[in-house]
Amino acid sequence: MEILDIGFIDKDFIKAVEQESGQEISRCYQCGNCTAGCPLSFSYDIPVHQIMRLIQVGQKEKVLRSHAIWLCATCETCTTRCPCEVDVARVMDTLRIMARREGMVSERGIRRFYDAFLESVKRHGRLFEVGLLLRYNLQRGRPFADADLAPKLLGKGKLHFLPDDIKGIDAVRGIFERITKKMGL
Ligand code: SF4
Ligand code: SF4
Repeated sequence: MEILDIGFIDKDFIKAVEQESGQEISRCYQCGNCTAGCPLSFSYDIPVHQIMRLIQVGQKEKVLRSHAIWLCATCETCTTRCPCEVDVARVMDTLRIMARREGMVSERGIRRFYDAFLESVKRHGRLFEVGLLLRYNLQRGRPFADADLAPKLLGKGKLHFLPDDIKGIDAVRGIFERITKKMGL
């Protein structure tokens, strides 16, 4: 992707990112500290400081279709290192939400894993590992992936075949419903 080829400047996108993340993107002066500290930078197609720059110049497609926003681990090193006090990790989080809403997710496997993880928490109030693995593997068409690890984990008591819902599960489901509605997902 040629990131220097700047076309139409989408001002609505700039405004939407600022509003949804609560961050003033124009404060970024491209010092590069966020990228220098990012532990996942080696895997990004666009380094995080360039993501910030692309937002400043309204390049919605390039930003929302980037792989980088999905490879980010939300470790918050960038946020801690930013001299302008921009919460960069929060911006990355916002971009993932926007990419989902706009149907521009470039890392479908990661999205499927997030979905399977959150579905498990929504249903049980905690992670049910067997359910998560089954759902994730079925969604990507590989039902028996990593099945060879099961005997070892079962032997060590690390896996349970039946879910164990927490008390107050209805409250957890209510939180999911409110957030999903608020995010427009
Ligand atoms: S939050 Fe994401 S972008 Fe920021 S340093 Fe961590 S992995 Fe990199
Ligand atoms: S650390 Fe802050 S100011 Fe520096 S490039 Fe990253 S977001 Fe911009």
